Amino acid sequence: MTRRHDIPATRRAFLGLAGGAAALGLAGGAPARAAKVATRARIVILGAGAAGTALANRLAERLEGAQITLLDGRAEHWYQPGFTLIAAGLKPASYSVSRTSDWLPASASLIAEAAAEIDPEAKVVTTASGTRVPYDFLVVATGLTLDWDAIEGFSLDLVGKDGIGAVYAGPDYAAKTWAEMDRFTDSGGRAVFFRPATEMKCAGAPLKYAFLTEDYATRKGTRGKVDITYFAQSKSLFGVPIVAEKVRMLFEERGIGTEYSHVMKAIDPGRKIITFTDADGLEHETDYDFTNVIPPMRAPEVVRNSPLPWSGKWEGEGWVEVDPQTLRHNRYPEVFAVGDVAGVPKGKTAASVKWQVPVVEDRIVAQLAGQEGTEVYDGYTSCPLITRIGRAMLIEFDYHNNLVPSFPGLIAPLEELWISWLMKEVALKATYNAMLRGKA
Ligand SMILES: Cc1cc2nc3c(=O)[nH]c(=O)nc-3n(C[C@H](O)[C@H](O)[C@H](O)COP(=O)(O)OP(=O)(O)OC[C@H]3O[C@@H](n4cnc5c(N)ncnc54)[C@H](O)[C@@H]3O)c2cc1C
Repeated sequence: MTRRHDIPATRRAFLGLAGGAAALGLAGGAPARAAKVATRARIVILGAGAAGTALANRLAERLEGAQITLLDGRAEHWYQPGFTLIAAGLKPASYSVSRTSDWLPASASLIAEAAAEIDPEAKVVTTASGTRVPYDFLVVATGLTLDWDAIEGFSLDLVGKDGIGAVYAGPDYAAKTWAEMDRFTDSGGRAVFFRPATEMKCAGAPLKYAFLTEDYATRKGTRGKVDITYFAQSKSLFGVPIVAEKVRMLFEERGIGTEYSHVMKAIDPGRKIITFTDADGLEHETDYDFTNVIPPMRAPEVVRNSPLPWSGKWEGEGWVEVDPQTLRHNRYPEVFAVGDVAGVPKGKTAASVKWQVPVVEDRIVAQLAGQEGTEVYDGYTSCPLITRIGRAMLIEFDYHNNLVPSFPGLIAPLEELWISWLMKEVALKATYNAMLRGKA
């Protein structure tokens, strides 16, 4: 599956070429599979988001008699790639919300509680109410935590007031962010955008929102009274150098100012001031009329407090120590991590989840069948980088920063195209849903 020459066709299916035709094709059914593997194994999956749900559905298809248990305290499933569209006024908050339980296979059970403790020596997870759940295989799929408390002066109550937005915080907050952006692009002033210095999910999203704000102001005829600055946390605007350079050029063309090596530290909503720290530790204040607050991101506390994270790597962030190719834990072979919580150098997107889940499925099923799994994850990461309403760049890359376009010769990754926009705006949700069902 991850051999290079196999990649384009299957990715094409995920991305849903031409407005979702392939996505609809996918919804018609999964490819024929080998006979199910009989087992009594207890497989516990922490988190029923994109990764946990997709994996549960795929394992249910492959295994006969397994006890698949998911833990998740949130009754709502959030389609997070939709948050940007909500915050751009293109979709209502309900666009991203469904019920977690609606996506799960009938043969799996859901414990509607968060995991509070993981003991990989005893092979037991304890839930928030104290129930002990023993496992033979554990898959950590908790996604990540948004550390709002790390920003001095900030609280989520501020979102939707006096120019403060927070697209990442959830569907309702994304809708409130849109109301603020709409108001700001009418009245004008100074917009300040940034990203955290930690690893983050969909690192393109902060850039997209700067582009979208600029586009709205231009469309409304208010661009002349709008000043926009993007503060990058490092010396570069994006982790993949060729993409960073393209974004730099587009920002320059569109009159979006840039500052480098600035990490957001505090906000003072009364004075409308944001404080950044630079590479020398010096603090700089800047005023704002509109901003999209994006906090540091870490593994959830239950993971950070367990023996599972890397030591000496991503200190304070707590990503699970897994082999980048197999996603199997380096020290606890019956533990895997998939999705945003996995401690791998790329891959915090839903599109990455699509490529990670079959690897974990293969490794577990093969082991239960007395064989060796063969699938590997190559770091595939993709985020349609919206540059205007109706235009996006379909950026896809791997662990080595190679661009790995799904449609070579057809869709140029570094061009702002309508077809790439369609994939984000129309096709991605259908294919994401197919992925949740284990069909993509
Ligand atoms: C604004 C924004 C835009 C994005 N745009 C794109 C895009 O265009 N393309 C793209 O591919 N990706 C995009 N993404 C990223 C994508 O949504 C995530 O990478 C993806 O959802 C990761 O899946 P996951 O299963 O790891 O985490 P999630 O989908 O977040 O699921 C994690 C689940 O774990 C649960 N959980 C948390 N803690 C615990 C616990 N202690 N015990 C049990 N359960 C727990 C949560 O309740 C949640 O249900 C975007 C994300 C955001 C926020």
